[in-house]
Amino acid sequence: MLAAAGQGDLIWGHSSARDPDGRGVWIKAAEWGMEEVTADRVHLVDDQGAVVEGEGARHSEYPIHTEIMAARPDVGGVVHTHAPHAVALAATGQSLRPVSHAATYFFPPEVPRFTRTADLVLTRELGRSLALTLGDARAVFLVNHGLVAVGRTLEAATVAAILLDRACAQQLRTHAGAAAHPGRRTRNLCPSASTSTTTRPSPRSGTTSSAA
Ligand SMILES: [Zn+2]
Repeated sequence: MLAAAGQGDLIWGHSSARDPDGRGVWIKAAEWGMEEVTADRVHLVDDQGAVVEGEGARHSEYPIHTEIMAARPDVGGVVHTHAPHAVALAATGQSLRPVSHAATYFFPPEVPRFTRTADLVLTRELGRSLALTLGDARAVFLVNHGLVAVGRTLEAATVAAILLDRACAQQLRTHAGAAAHPGRRTRNLCPSASTSTTTRPSPRSGTTSSAA
């Protein structure tokens, strides 16, 4: 789904599901693209980075997953991709604004921005720092790098990643449209939290829900 949504990036990007027995995270092996994932190309990685079940080379950014899982007991799935519209919007320095239905899944509050590095998250300490920046949010921008989206399940995290990139794309289009018509009023580009809806779409039901 992530590859079909334009979030594949050669062999980069990864998603994980929490092991039900608390042994770590099930994550795709490093040699494969998102569109190439099969059951035998996924392995179990513990919080020290050891592959404890399955085959293949481990993604070096495993601490994104293990440290967020440790910090967020409510999270059962984590997605990290180099989603192009999320990278573009975050690189402008703008916040995600509720200019589309997809954006209201995240806003309010603000989508946090992780700026300690634009490079890979290779250490447990950086993973903890990222988890701290994420806080209780549904997603975080890795500025000049990508996004991380979380959910109660891997399916919910996947939908969150797709919604966030769509929301960023819509905001970029909106600003491009406004720039093409500078004489038009643009106050609706950045509605305040008080004027935006707080009813959030639910990836599970396709309806709306106030659940986090
Ligand atoms: Zn990355």
